[in-house]
Amino acid sequence: MGKYKIAVIPGDGIGPEVTNAARVVMDLVAKKFGHDFSYDELLAGGIAIDVTGNPLPSSTVAACKKSDAVLLGAVGGPAWDNLPGEMRPEKALLGLRSELGLFANIRPAILYSSLSEACPLHPDIASKGIDICFVRELTGGMYFGDRGRREGKFGNEAYDTEAYSVMEVDRIARTAFELAMTRKKTVLSVDKANVLESSRLWREVVINVAKEYPEVKLEHMYVDNASMQLIKRPFDFDVVVTTNMFGDILSDEAAMITGSIGMLPSASLGEKGKPGMYEPIHGSAPDIAGQDKANPLATILSIAMMLRISLGLEAEASAIEAAVEKVLEKGYRTGDIAYGNTSEDSKIKLVGTREMGSLVAKEL
Ligand code: NAD
Repeated sequence: MGKYKIAVIPGDGIGPEVTNAARVVMDLVAKKFGHDFSYDELLAGGIAIDVTGNPLPSSTVAACKKSDAVLLGAVGGPAWDNLPGEMRPEKALLGLRSELGLFANIRPAILYSSLSEACPLHPDIASKGIDICFVRELTGGMYFGDRGRREGKFGNEAYDTEAYSVMEVDRIARTAFELAMTRKKTVLSVDKANVLESSRLWREVVINVAKEYPEVKLEHMYVDNASMQLIKRPFDFDVVVTTNMFGDILSDEAAMITGSIGMLPSASLGEKGKPGMYEPIHGSAPDIAGQDKANPLATILSIAMMLRISLGLEAEASAIEAAVEKVLEKGYRTGDIAYGNTSEDSKIKLVGTREMGSLVAKEL
C-alpha cells in the first residue's frame, strides 16, 4: 500500500484522450492493490502557449520536480507550427528533459503474438518474434547542440551541431549495460563512426564501459546498416544503445515493424531518486485527435513502466501488461492495429480509445 503523487501532462491532440484512458487503468490499479495515486494535471505544449503564452510554464517544471513520476501524453500540432523555434510546443519536451535531467530514454519494442498480422514484415520473420529495447540518449547530440543561421560559402545557411562528451556517452552506455544484464546480455551500439567524429568518441567510450561488464557481448553497427538489419532480422536485436537522433528514427522504424506507433511506451530517466517521465513514443496525431480513434495502449504500457521503474511496483506493472495482452488476444483493436477481417462475425473487434482503456481496466 503506497501513496504516490503523479504529475500528468495531457498536452495536445490525442494527448488528453490517451492519458485519460491510462488514468482509468491507474485508478483500477489503485483500487485493486490498495494504493493512493494523486494526480497533478499540468500544462505544457500548445495548450500551455494558448493559456500562458509559454510552452513550458515554470509552475509545470516545479510541480514535476516535486512528483514521484511524470506521465505525458503528447505535445504539438498544426495550430502552433508557424511559431518561432523557442516558442514551439516541442520546446516543452526538450525543456522537461533537460530540467528533469532525463538523459536516458528506454523504448521497448515488442511484437505481441496476437498482433503478428499487424507486422508488415514477411511472416517467416514476424514468427520469430521481436523484443528489442532501445536505449536512446536524450539530452545531448544534435537536438541540443549549437545551432543557428549564418552567411556561408553559398549564401545564407543553417546549421545544427552533433556533440557528445565522454560523460554523456559513459552514463548512457552504463544504462544500456545494466539493462542488458537483466535481459539476454547483449548490447548493440549504433553509430556512424565511419564518418562522424562524435561517433568515433561514442564508440571509444562504449568499448571502455563494456570492460566493466565482461558478461555482456558488445557489438557495433553503423546506423544505415542498422536500419536495414532491423527490417531483415529484427529477432536478432536485443538492447540497442544509440544517440538522440539515431534513436529517434530507429525506434519509429521499430514501432512500425511491431504493428503501430500506438503500441510503444517509453521511460525517460535521469539520476536515481529523481522523477522519471513516462510517455508513448507517438506524437499528438492531429489527424485523428478528438475522434476517439487513438490507440491508448502505448500510454497504458508507459504507466506499467512507471509503476515498475519509478514506484517499484512490479506486480502491478506485470498485471497491466498481462491485461493488455489478454485484451489483444480477445481480438479488441483500435483502428491502427485492426488488420485482417474486421467484419461483425470476425474475432477482431474495432474499439475506440475510451473503450480500449476500459477493457484493459476490466481485464485487471
Ligand atoms: P504522430 O506520432 O503524431 O503521428 C504519426 C502517424 O501515426 C499519424 O498518422 C497518426 O494518426 C498515427 N498515430 C500516432 N499515434 C497514434 C495512436 N496512439 N493511435 C493511432 N494512430 C496513431 O507524428 P507526427 O504526425 O509526425 O506529429 C504530429 C505532431 O506531434 C507534431 O506537432 C509533432 O511535433 C508532435 N510530436 C510530439 C511528440 C511528443 O509529444 N512526444 C512526438 C512526436 C511528434
